[in-house]
Order: sequence, then C-alpha cells, then structure tokens
Amino acid sequence: MPTFVYMTRCDGCGYCVDICPSDIMHIDTTYRRAYNIEPNMCWECYSCVKSCPQHAIDCRGYSDFAPMGHSVRALREEEKGTISWKIKFRDGREKNFVSPIRTTPWGSIKSPSDYAAPSQAAFKAQELAHEPEALNIGKLPALTPDRLKQGVV
Ligand code: SF4
Ligand code: SF4
Repeated sequence: MPTFVYMTRCDGCGYCVDICPSDIMHIDTTYRRAYNIEPNMCWECYSCVKSCPQHAIDCRGYSDFAPMGHSVRALREEEKGTISWKIKFRDGREKNFVSPIRTTPWGSIKSPSDYAAPSQAAFKAQELAHEPEALNIGKLPALTPDRLKQGVV
C-alpha cells in the first residue's frame, strides 16, 4: 500500500514533500494538506512516514516484518537519536522496536554546498564527487583484466 495521509492530522508543514525521493507527496492547494499524487510510483521507502511530525502518514509495512492486516507506526525522536516502530498485528499482538537513526551527531553531515565545487576534470572522471577520499580509502577498487574470467578478454 502506498502512503496515505490522514488529513485531520496533517498540518501542511511540507516535510514529506521535501523528503520524498519520488517527488509524489504534494500539498493540496485548496486544503493545504499533503497527499500522494501518484500512488503507483510510491516505493514505500518510509522517508515521508519517518519525517512527519504529526504521525499523519500511513504506509504498509514490509512483509518481512509485518504480515497483512497489521498497522505500523513510526516515531522519529531526534533528541534521542532513535526511531521506534510499533507494529500491531491483526490477532491483537503488539511489537515495539527501537533503532538508532545514526551514529554521528544530528546536523553534523555537511551539505553539498559546504564542499568545494568540482573541477572541470572531475566532471569527466569515473568517480562520483569526493570519491575516493569521502570513502576513507586511497583509491577505488577496480577490476583488472587478469582478474576477469579466462576467455572474456
Ligand atoms: S513512502 Fe517514500 S516514495 Fe512513497 S510517498 Fe513516502 S517518501 Fe515518497
Ligand atoms: S510531513 Fe506530515 S504534517 Fe507535514 S505535510 Fe506531510 S503529512 Fe502533513
């Protein structure tokens, strides 16, 4: 099930709009509430669910942790650095999981604008921006012909 917004809980803050990698969470221009404009394109990544401060977004849980007929609530607590999952199964059982959101301090990840602009030569290179130093390695591993299956080259 793609995301579904409870309009009575949504306050139109737009966090879900900013974070959706599919760009399908939009604010209704009449009601000023969020809604999923293209449910078929939702890949249930949960980004909007986790970002919503009002717990206004419902989404199906993945089948590996919640079978059909359940409900899932995700609670993101920045001050504790955790995300909690409350799963209610259709037979009434309830399970709660708590996981760390990250291992570095909140807000410590640099934004792209904090990095120097890449050179013209970097645009033609195979590496992505700031590779390999951002990966804490000297050089990206690469296949050499002698490591390929015999007969391929
Ligand atoms: S679950 Fe992911 S893809 Fe679907 S609407 Fe939310 S952020 Fe977008
Ligand atoms: S993040 Fe939640 S409260 Fe904010 S616009 Fe989206 S659904 Fe509404």
